[in-house]
Amino acid sequence: MQVPTGPLLRNTALEPFANHFFTTASLRLREDEQEWHEVARVAGVPTDRLLLLHQVHGRAVAVASSGSTGQWSRPEADAAVTDDPSVALVVRVADCAPILLADITTGAVAAVHAGWRSTMHRIVGAAVTTMRTAFGTNPADLVAAIGPSLGVCCGEMGEEVVEAFRDAGHDHAALEAWFVRQPGRRPHFDLWRANRDQLEQAGVPRSTIHVSGLCTRTHPDIFHSFRAAGPDAGRMAAVIRANR
Ligand SMILES: [Zn+2]
Repeated sequence: MQVPTGPLLRNTALEPFANHFFTTASLRLREDEQEWHEVARVAGVPTDRLLLLHQVHGRAVAVASSGSTGQWSRPEADAAVTDDPSVALVVRVADCAPILLADITTGAVAAVHAGWRSTMHRIVGAAVTTMRTAFGTNPADLVAAIGPSLGVCCGEMGEEVVEAFRDAGHDHAALEAWFVRQPGRRPHFDLWRANRDQLEQAGVPRSTIHVSGLCTRTHPDIFHSFRAAGPDAGRMAAVIRANR
């Protein structure tokens, strides 16, 4: 039986350098195995070549080097990098930011799952560092796409989250930029800005960082949102595969 994927999103700036897509609400990606076959079909790999992670809101980055991906056993990590075009990297999200990276020189790619906790842990910078170490990536050669996720419009957080960022060593300027304050409202976290800033700090040119600007909570008819639907929310996949 064919399961239609429904609408998929692609970033036109990233497309020449890596096969990739972001799924939408038409796939739930929970227990339905058939849906994963459909994701693999679109990615152009067998289903057992979709490399998923055991996502834990941490800072670990898994490396899937060419030749080693036969041993993949869903590591505990929130980002993965590879230079192997025979596999597709996958992160699953519902409000957390999916971030896809491609190196225009080496062809290496990365997929990152950045919720507020992993953003606090600087996960996207860790992914760039791992690409440098594993594949010799120059950060100036990276194109980045930040997919649909919780926008600052819906990013209400408690003060304890701001404190956690402070404790993690983020400076006053970063906290001012990332937590938007208006009178009478709790701070609102700008997940996109925080990750864009961290990519820039890692050496990725601002001009090659692309933010979809689509808030999952604001558009529950199009996207899955944990904040909108709770623990039963479906998940969206961000998928990337090296094209050479
Ligand atoms: Zn919103």
